[in-house]
Amino acid sequence: MRAKSDQPLAGIVPKLLAWFDRSARTLPWRTAPGVGRDPYRVWLSEIMLQQTTVPHAAPYFAAFTTRWPTVEALAAARDDDVMQAWAGLGYYARARNLLKCAREVAARGGFPETEAGLRTLPGIGPYTAGAIAALAFGERTPAVDGNAERVFARLLAIKEDWAAAKKRIALLARDLVPEDRPGAFAEALMDLGATICTPRKPNCAICPVAAYCRAFDEGEAESYPIKPEKIARPERFGIVYVLRRGGYIWVVRRPPSGLLGGMLALPSSEWSETRQDAAAPVDAEWEVLGEVRHVFTHFSLKLDVWFAETPDTDLPEGFWTSEDEIDGLPTVFAKAAALAGLSARRKR
Ligand code: SF4
Repeated sequence: MRAKSDQPLAGIVPKLLAWFDRSARTLPWRTAPGVGRDPYRVWLSEIMLQQTTVPHAAPYFAAFTTRWPTVEALAAARDDDVMQAWAGLGYYARARNLLKCAREVAARGGFPETEAGLRTLPGIGPYTAGAIAALAFGERTPAVDGNAERVFARLLAIKEDWAAAKKRIALLARDLVPEDRPGAFAEALMDLGATICTPRKPNCAICPVAAYCRAFDEGEAESYPIKPEKIARPERFGIVYVLRRGGYIWVVRRPPSGLLGGMLALPSSEWSETRQDAAAPVDAEWEVLGEVRHVFTHFSLKLDVWFAETPDTDLPEGFWTSEDEIDGLPTVFAKAAALAGLSARRKR
């Protein structure tokens, strides 16, 4: 007997668009149907969503677009202000690329209007270029992110090597993009992946394209995509020092390149692969408050948090800053400050 899912996959396009017209998510960076999309807002939202969820990105998006409503305004911003506004989103190299890109766009007089042109900008890869080109400029081009890849892997029950599968999905998606509504197709795939064809427990019973889905036919939706096993992240260890005097706290500027490059930080020991013997940077009544953990892309970090009140001691490098500035520190240091009871506003 012929399975339902042997129907040509092109049939998903009208089904998906009709479902999207009924069920599209309301998101801060979207506009009402028929209203043109600002490439700046599409770009900014996509860069933020590369590293966090919609609920976490939404207040950052609102804050950025209120303070810097255009790409030209962002291009003219001070580096420190942007880095501080980005704090808590992580991956600070992206914030630096964000500024670099904004300045290049401003210098060019606006965003390029094609996927190929957009890909020449710093920090813009194939997915983001496709999303901006399709959503803001109506180019018939795909925007295939992890959500869309998962949907296609399930629709086709792809069992082949994941690297080869991704290439196949990219080609297929390019063929399927409808001439008249490329942006809606991209967002429909994003929404389907985010709300129905979720990584765990996909809700196939209400899926608009279930009739085309081979993984659903097999009763194995959740088994796809089949990806190579992830290698466990190595661990690193260190000590972070919270040194306080009155309403001030000691901070350092990290080296300009490398992890968290150029950011303000709390002083810390080296982050090494094994626990080091405890060493205090200056004489003080140090108290060990506990441990904070943070996961970076290539390793996970455990930092012991040491705290001291000091009447007159400075460290060799760095400076005192008001406790009010602590919320602008990268998340790993804000966690340490919170453990010392210094950051009530930020809870992660
Ligand atoms: S039927 Fe299920 S697995 Fe297939 S696309 Fe829909 S939600 Fe995903």
